[in-house]
Formats: sequence, C-alpha cells, structure tokens
Amino acid sequence: MGLNSFFTSACNYKRVAAVFIMLFVVSCSEPRDVLYKEQIFVFGTIVEINIWGQTQKAKQAAAVITEDFRFMHQAFNPWQGGSLSRMNEIFPTKFAFSVSPTILPVILESKELSSQSNGLFNPAIGRLVKLWDFDVATLDATALDSNLTLNKKIEKRTPPDPKLISDLVLKNPTMNNVLIEGISIRSDHADLALDFGGIAKGYAVDMAIQTLQEFGIDNAIINAGGDLRAIGQRDNHNWTVGIRHPRGKGIIASIEINQDESVFTSGDYERFFEYEKKRYHHIIDPRTGYPVEDVISVTVIHPNATIADAAATALFIAGPQQWHAIAKSMGIKLVMMIDDKFNIYMNPAMAQRLTFEPNKKFNITLSPPL
Ligand code: ADP
Ligand code: MG
Repeated sequence: MGLNSFFTSACNYKRVAAVFIMLFVVSCSEPRDVLYKEQIFVFGTIVEINIWGQTQKAKQAAAVITEDFRFMHQAFNPWQGGSLSRMNEIFPTKFAFSVSPTILPVILESKELSSQSNGLFNPAIGRLVKLWDFDVATLDATALDSNLTLNKKIEKRTPPDPKLISDLVLKNPTMNNVLIEGISIRSDHADLALDFGGIAKGYAVDMAIQTLQEFGIDNAIINAGGDLRAIGQRDNHNWTVGIRHPRGKGIIASIEINQDESVFTSGDYERFFEYEKKRYHHIIDPRTGYPVEDVISVTVIHPNATIADAAATALFIAGPQQWHAIAKSMGIKLVMMIDDKFNIYMNPAMAQRLTFEPNKKFNITLSPPL
C-alpha cells in the first residue's frame, strides 16, 4: 500500500480509539512525508513541481511558481506581445529605451555566457531562429498526445531560403551589440533580436527554486520537460533522475543528485522536421546559420540551472571536437555528449556520476578531466 492510500484508509476507518483518531487527524491535515506534485504547460513543455513533505507550504509555493512561470512564458516570448517582443521591435531603430526589469538579469547573464562560449551560445540571433521558425515557445497543450508526451515533430516543412540564411549569418549580431547603461538599453545593430529559448527555461527553474527556498522548502525538484534542478532529498534518500534516451523510449542513464544540482539536456529531438530524409532541428550554429549536424544530445550538470541550460546549448553547437575547450572556458565540470553514431563523449567525473541502463551498448570515449 502506498503512503497516500494508507493515510486515506486510516483516515476513513471509524471504529478506532479516540486518542488514535486524534493523532491521525493531525497527520491527515498535514501529512509530512508525501510528494506534492503539480503540472503546468509553459515554455512549450510540461513543467512539474515536485515537493517532498510540507504539503501546506508546498501548495502555496506551487501557486506562486505557477503564476511566475505563466508571467515569464509571456515576457520571454520573442515575437508575441510580451516585454521581450516589445524590445525586439525597438532594437532595429537603435534608439535607447528602459529595459524591462524581468528581462535585464537574463540579458546580463547571456552576455557573460555568450562570451565564455566564444559566441556559440548567441541569443542575439533571434532573426535567424525566427527564419527557421520552430516556434518552440508557442508550442501549446494541443501538442500533447494521450500519454502527455509532446509531439515534437513538425509536419510538412521545408528549410528556409539559403540566401536569407547566409545574409543573416554575414550580419552576425552578437550580445556585444546590446549596450546597457543603468536601466537604459539599445542595440547598435539593425538585425539584432533576442531569443532566450536556450536559457529561459533554466532561468525560470532557478527562480522557482529561489521561491521554494523563500518558503522554507528544502526538498524539491522543478522538472521542465526533463530539464531540472533538484534540492535536498526525498525521504532521506538522494533524488535520482533519468536522462532520456535521445532516440526511442525510456532513459539512457540515471544520476543521483548531490544536494543541489541542475541537469539540462539539449537534444535534436526537442523540435524538428524532416525534409528529403534529413532532420532539421532547433539548435542553430551561428557560424553556418543551419541546425548543428553530427550531435544528437548534450547533458550538463551544474549547480545553477541558467548556466546548465545555456551550456548544454553551447556545447551541442561546439560538437565532438570543441566541447571540451568550451566547457573549460564556461567553467562546466560535468558533460555528456552523444553523436549521431551513438558515440558517447564525456569527462571522467561525469562517467562516475552516471549509471547506464543495462543492455544498452554505447561506444564511450573519456576526455581528459575538466
Ligand atoms: P531544448 O532544451 O529544448 O533542447 P535548448 O536549451 O538547446 O533547447 O535551446 C534551443 C533553443 O535555443 C532554440 O529553440 C532557440 O530558441 C534557441 N537557440 C537556437 N540556437 C541558439 C544559439 N546558437 N544560441 C542561443 N540560443 C539558440
Ligand atoms: Mg539550453
């Protein structure tokens, strides 16, 4: 019998001694050791709030987080009616304006992460991302099938005109073209538009964990479609999370979380279409203007979800040749990359953290330590 059903049946049982009932009334009104779960659909994915124990506080905190997520979902949409979309309208004019306080921290963080990644993580390529039009942010609940799994394959699409792609690549807007003085912001590049699809989920997860901590909640996971940050434990055991297999069903490996860590994966299966037997997905190499080839997924573990999110995107673009150097320059200590031939590349510390599923054979290459 699960803990919940035990409480339910015990609470319904009427012929027990009064003192026993009183003890259980206390337990039923505030069960301490249960998992509180809530799901919301934002950022084109299902976000699950999991809180161990503290049910009353959990409900209140989850309500605040849900509202914050909905607000951020709107604010970070690059083209449809929120703070960022208004900023993207003004940037080409090169006029200065007051930056939205919701967006400013993400811009500052993005500048840093973009420069550490040698421009591979480049949220300034919003126009290029729009040209490819994977529309990740606006995926809605209609993309869910009956098993609550997202249908991420887009039907009947063709790649954009190569000339439009190469024009935008030549223009090369970067985060250095976003100029900030106090709360005043402007762009000095007519083709700059910001797209935070590679970092917003991580930032929102960090905000949610901060909210939980302000509520005094120590044991929780915020899971945004497999990208997550976990704090504390569950029932005095470390949380264990799975890394989804980039093809097929199930997980490829599991990881035990060490107190407070984020696990973020960038994959070519998140949003894609096929054209003439070739897969086109939503992670764009700013140097070519095309989706990255050869890599199918990158997983990063880092204490901070914002950094883990941006780094997974950057290392995906860096590919098997460059990921190690870029991870070093971004201060990332735990990385696993899977290429399109199912070769796995990772650093030794990451190998120690992962428990691979039995019966799944991969060719593993260990890099020097990070
Ligand atoms: P997911 O977690 O969904 O696999 P990522 O975190 O890797 O996705 O982010 C992919 C999203 O990031 C794209 O949908 C797009 O909005 C944006 N993006 C694509 N290419 C880049 C890039 N080179 N730098 C920064 N953001 C990018
Ligand atoms: Mg990312």
